Amino acid sequence: MGANATAFFGLPLAANVGALDRTFAGDDANPRHFRKSPYKTARQAGISGDHTGKVHRRICQRKNMKILSLESSCDDSSLAFLDTERRIFPFEKNHSQALLHREYGGVFPNLAAREHGRVFPELIAAWESCACGPPDRIAVTRGPGLPGCLAVGLGVAQSLARRHGCDLLGVNHLRAHALSPFLPLWQQNVPIEPLLPHLGLLVSGGNTLLFIVGEDFQFQLLARTLDDAAGEALDKGARMLGLPYPGGVEIERLAANGDPAAFAFPRAFRGRDLKFSFSGLKTSLLYRLKKMSSAEIDERRANLCASYQEAVCDALLDKVDYAIRNFFCRSLGLSGGVSQNGRLRKKITQIAAAAELSLLLAPEKYCGDNASMVAFAAAVDPMVIAAPVAFDPNLKIYE
Ligand code: ADP
Ligand code: MG
Repeated sequence: MGANATAFFGLPLAANVGALDRTFAGDDANPRHFRKSPYKTARQAGISGDHTGKVHRRICQRKNMKILSLESSCDDSSLAFLDTERRIFPFEKNHSQALLHREYGGVFPNLAAREHGRVFPELIAAWESCACGPPDRIAVTRGPGLPGCLAVGLGVAQSLARRHGCDLLGVNHLRAHALSPFLPLWQQNVPIEPLLPHLGLLVSGGNTLLFIVGEDFQFQLLARTLDDAAGEALDKGARMLGLPYPGGVEIERLAANGDPAAFAFPRAFRGRDLKFSFSGLKTSLLYRLKKMSSAEIDERRANLCASYQEAVCDALLDKVDYAIRNFFCRSLGLSGGVSQNGRLRKKITQIAAAAELSLLLAPEKYCGDNASMVAFAAAVDPMVIAAPVAFDPNLKIYE
């Protein structure tokens, strides 16, 4: 935290640190995890020199880059080309593997890695045929993600960097998601600085994180999940309800005709503690289904979906509400695959309006895993790593 941390959070510094301490005290089996965690200063985090500059200055410094970016952390193979001078993407192409993994009810890691290896040459051929000119940077997701999938993406990126004689940049996938709500503003030349500090909620298949983005794009983690991520809870819940992967989409589709108050599912840590948990909700659904006949489940599936979706949304937004009341922020953001959910978008819009905060929703096409957000992060995130780049399946948002 910088010297102006007190001003950042509006509250006396001690009050904020106290809140963070409560969040993390003893909630992890591995204390090593948190010793190096969210309290890193910019200097400890390796941010120095021009990296501590304001966001808009950073963006100006990196103008006129042509970035070819790759995303392969899970089951999306994605390639994008960003022209940072015109702030446009002359090329973006995504190949979702969701159908391939459907029969396994989740992502099959080896199959995903093999599919990335098959698809990237096709994506590169498509980019070459669009003749957008040579890149001067190659950006690639360096983690977190599935090790085999990250390795394939990095290998392809390294060979592209050699072929085009340009630098390789390693991007943190979580920070790319977290920054994606700023992308449309940046494209329209809207200054980002007045929106900082920013309270962000990142909800995806593998992560549920609540964090503050400070004035120099330092990330301060406020809350994370103790067990499943929100998307994982939706996917597993959907599976119990006999719905295909990816379950979040299916639950939302059926919930449209259901009553969110039909079943009383639990919301963990309601009104207290900055931490998420979805295992109790999942167990509650399991036991509820065990008490119902299959005919009854068929008949009430829409109500089950609507109530389950509502519990996930409430559990997420309860913490957003808590953070708004306890930490100073100028804007609120939502990103990640689950942020495509209409109910979640509607409810967070109401919260932002009530708190009179600017709301930044990641554009729907940039909610799931995509290479465009990787290119944007490569252009604006001070924590981007230059070559040599290694992948890290367990990378944290503040690393
Ligand atoms: P990850 O990066 O962890 O692979 P993504 O950002 O790709 O995750 O998001 C995938 C997750 O988003 C899945 O769990 C999926 O069920 C969920 N998801 C996608 N669309 C929706 C939706 N409309 N409503 C709720 N969840 C959704
Ligand atoms: Mg993701």
